[in-house]
Amino acid sequence: MKRSLTVMGNWKMNGTRGDNESLLRELVFEGKKFPSVEVAVFPPSVFIESVAQQLVGSPVRVGAQDLCEQLKPGAFTGEVLGAMLKELGCRYALVGHSERRHVYGETDERVAAKFVAAQHSGLTPVLCVGEQLAEREAGQTETVLDRQLLAVIDQGGVASLRGALIAYEPVWAIGTGKTASPEQAQAAHAHIRGLIAARDAKIANSICILYGGSVKADNAAELFAQADVDGGLIGGASLKASEFLAICAAAQALHDE
Ligand code: PEP
Repeated sequence: MKRSLTVMGNWKMNGTRGDNESLLRELVFEGKKFPSVEVAVFPPSVFIESVAQQLVGSPVRVGAQDLCEQLKPGAFTGEVLGAMLKELGCRYALVGHSERRHVYGETDERVAAKFVAAQHSGLTPVLCVGEQLAEREAGQTETVLDRQLLAVIDQGGVASLRGALIAYEPVWAIGTGKTASPEQAQAAHAHIRGLIAARDAKIANSICILYGGSVKADNAAELFAQADVDGGLIGGASLKASEFLAICAAAQALHDE
């Protein structure tokens, strides 16, 4: 039996109110079949409130795709404060998703500040880390992961990782259909856990490390079966109820084995 797994769906900038309602109807109905899997969806921020309302009474949780690094309200046009997301019903917040880092130029320091801000508002941060293709090819995967993780440990202290989640998402695997092999995913996850263990063994042992990058119904089981893979952060496949539910089913089956 594997410990409980977590499956999170990052909807990115997709969906309409109507699309969300039909997707959630299926998730809520079928979601009862996965009592040992923590399931969460991350809609665009404008839909968080309606999604949270539709999920009242369901075990499926809601998260935000991003938040502002500020700790207090103020003159920050276009930004959303963690406390506002919490008020709308969010439990989680992604920080440092590769599209935030590489399309919008977020630095490790800014991502770390967002991590701290999420916790300040009572949100559970899901810290996304991962190397780009050129970095992997240059043998720099572990250096990149260390840099991204240490930025958070420097700002928040290792204790800030208690209760947080990490998503290892190799940038070259996100939205490309190219998945890391189970061995590549396991090696990166073990490295992340090892870095934390060198500072706090208890946190390292309990922290949930998700894999993300072209996870689908047909590859989820072998990825999630790896010793240090505690579930997945799912992009494209989270927009289709049958695919997302099949991924949740794979997680439940591993738990039941
Ligand atoms: C993601 O956006 O976090 C992601 C993993 O996307 P995809 O599953 O589409 O690769």
